[in-house]
Amino acid sequence: MGEINWTWGPRRWTDARGHDFFVVRPPDDRRLRGCLIGGAIGDALGANTENLPMEVVYERHGPAGVTDLPAKPDITDDTQMTLFTFEAVIRSHVRARLTGRADLTDVTQNAYQRWLHTQKTPWDKARGPSTLDEPDGWLVSHADLFRRRAPGLTCTSALQEYARTGAQATITKPVNNSKGCGGAMRVAPVALADHDPAVVFALAADNAALTHGHPSGYLSAGVFAVLVHQLLRGRGLLAALDVAVPPLVRCEGHEEVLAGIDQAVELAALRDPSVARVEQLGRGGVGDTALAIALYSALVTDDPNHALLISVNHGGDSDSTASMCGNLVGALHGVDRIRPDWVERVQFRDVIDRMVADWAVETGPAAPMAQEWFTRYPPS
Ligand SMILES: [Mg+2]
Repeated sequence: MGEINWTWGPRRWTDARGHDFFVVRPPDDRRLRGCLIGGAIGDALGANTENLPMEVVYERHGPAGVTDLPAKPDITDDTQMTLFTFEAVIRSHVRARLTGRADLTDVTQNAYQRWLHTQKTPWDKARGPSTLDEPDGWLVSHADLFRRRAPGLTCTSALQEYARTGAQATITKPVNNSKGCGGAMRVAPVALADHDPAVVFALAADNAALTHGHPSGYLSAGVFAVLVHQLLRGRGLLAALDVAVPPLVRCEGHEEVLAGIDQAVELAALRDPSVARVEQLGRGGVGDTALAIALYSALVTDDPNHALLISVNHGGDSDSTASMCGNLVGALHGVDRIRPDWVERVQFRDVIDRMVADWAVETGPAAPMAQEWFTRYPPS
């Protein structure tokens, strides 16, 4: 799969920031499917070893650590929230078609309130200012989503705060001072929301700031979404970094994220990946180190399956680092390069495939105008 010759889409909108933007879907879906399915596989690979020291991982899994998906590969909050992000991107595209305004961050806030509801918060305590009697749309109708799989406390409490106050958190009005990786690990689909990488950076940072108020929490999300944006267009990872770093360094508080990127690139250039080298980058619990570990793992090998195993075998937040690595290597190499038995087995594969197909329909030449579609993807 070489460089993709990008074609401009048929529509032009103005978003909430006053930017004109084009929405264009990739000419084939193998990279987008790879990105989302790869993320879910990474999440499931790390789900049972999150924050366990490697000595314990070796005891449980043998001297090579985690080498395969468990028999029942369950995803966690990382994939759940990524699916709600993707849903928000689709719904905001529907909104733009109907009203001329995408309002992605507002639509995403509502999506995350629905995710909060799946985490055992009653709807009347999760919905915030919404007047809906029930959460709407197709995604939340999946009973399998209604499972608490180690949801991040920062995300949960920030969304509960929004439900109580109705005040949306922003970069300038932060909800907390958290630099946790929960902002970055969910934003891969924001890559689809605009043609311009600088706009994608800003949208992803705004997304993460809904729950994470420290620059390392939201700027890592900006970088990550731009990397995905570039990889989906057929660029290599280093070329993608050349696009993602300039908007980062223009932002106040970018130093930790930039240091993590630099360290990941330097370590990857040494080849010979090891647990010790991954752990040199940190524990992945915060946005800057999660990005660094995902990036290192994707850079140090040309095999996406090997990259996933590198990104999951360390003593830190292994499901988030592997989920982010899976997003990167899936977009870089395409779904065909990921182990078929993993693709076959991972939870929510059918939901991902359906949403990718729906995105193609929504952004295609004959976008639906039927009520059924607006019930599936309400424009809010
Ligand atoms: Mg998780």
